[in-house]
Amino acid sequence: MDNTNTIKPRIWLSSPHMGKDEFSFVKEAFDTNWIAPLGPNVDGFEQDLCRYNGSKYAAALSSGTAAIHLSLVLIGVKPGDEVICSSFTFSASANPILYLGAIPVFVDSEESSWNMNPEFLETAIIDRLAKGIKPKAIIVVHLYGMPARINEILAIGNKFDIPVIEDAAEALGSYYEDKHLGSFGIMGILSFNGNKIITTSGGGALISDNKDFIDKARFLATQARDKAPHYQHSEIGYNYRMSNICAGIGRGQMKVLDERVKQRRYNFKFYENQISNFAGIDFQLELEGASSNRWLTAIIIDPSKTGGKTREDLRLAMDNENIECRPLWKPMHLQPVFEKYPFYGDNTSDKLFNRGLCLPSGSNLSDEDRARILKCFYSVFQ
Ligand SMILES: *Cc1c(COP(=O)(O)O)cnc(C)c1O
Repeated sequence: MDNTNTIKPRIWLSSPHMGKDEFSFVKEAFDTNWIAPLGPNVDGFEQDLCRYNGSKYAAALSSGTAAIHLSLVLIGVKPGDEVICSSFTFSASANPILYLGAIPVFVDSEESSWNMNPEFLETAIIDRLAKGIKPKAIIVVHLYGMPARINEILAIGNKFDIPVIEDAAEALGSYYEDKHLGSFGIMGILSFNGNKIITTSGGGALISDNKDFIDKARFLATQARDKAPHYQHSEIGYNYRMSNICAGIGRGQMKVLDERVKQRRYNFKFYENQISNFAGIDFQLELEGASSNRWLTAIIIDPSKTGGKTREDLRLAMDNENIECRPLWKPMHLQPVFEKYPFYGDNTSDKLFNRGLCLPSGSNLSDEDRARILKCFYSVFQ
């Protein structure tokens, strides 16, 4: 057999990484016939999340998107209301605003953390108020695991009496001044989708210190059944609960979460050590007091300093070596479905999108994988 053309194995951007115990929790669910969307693994997983994140209550749900949707329902967002949201994010942060017939108002990024710029947030609120509309909520995203300027954003929320919901879907294991992300806002949301730092194959959670919110979230997530022997409903419900099987995977993953954070941060350090001295290459910055889980390591490539090399040059070279890299999220205010909605900013996120690339960041990358990635990087930039 001729091996010269053998394709090297694919290096993925971020793939699931199981520990040792996931399967035994799932097996226990089978052995005890707890295959339903409730059961001991769901309770156990919720307790694990609270213990880890320092929030008092958690509801395990079918997805992070479902968690955002329920958080807006709980705040009482109605058709025609406005909800402020980070523009630089994945569409799932904003879609639930539209599920409720409400209007998203997008706020741009700052250059250092790439997250919501508090100055633009305040400008947006003042302008909406001047137009006679008080926004119902602020959804702040901690992108790629990086803490946003959460204290400043909370202070603005307090000043104008607007609740802050943290989209910490990418940020489990990140913290700011010793407090875990997701536990600052009135509610926080987490995701356990397949590509996140830990996964339940699919799933999410709503976390809060407010018991009423979480009780109500569990009620709404199980079709809003009133207490009665028959099926009785006085509210519209959803089928949003996590299954006991998925929660079993989650309980196993919680045991390795700290290790996963270390592995992801190691990837970041590796890239930073190896490539930050190249002109025109920049990284997402941790603010003072912030610690990112470095879910994804992303870089900004400035072609005016790299002799014209762009992020597409690097992405295509990597793809040619069977290495998956992805452009940064395309901001919501540039998306065909969202471009008609209000936007406040100076297009910082447009620039990040045009120049940014996410590098392979899985906690299961090997030294060999990292060496292959680096070799390809050098082939483009040296
Ligand atoms: C993944 C993600 C979500 C949605 O989570 P799902 O569990 O996939 O529904 C929301 N916001 C951000 C920023 C995400 O990355």
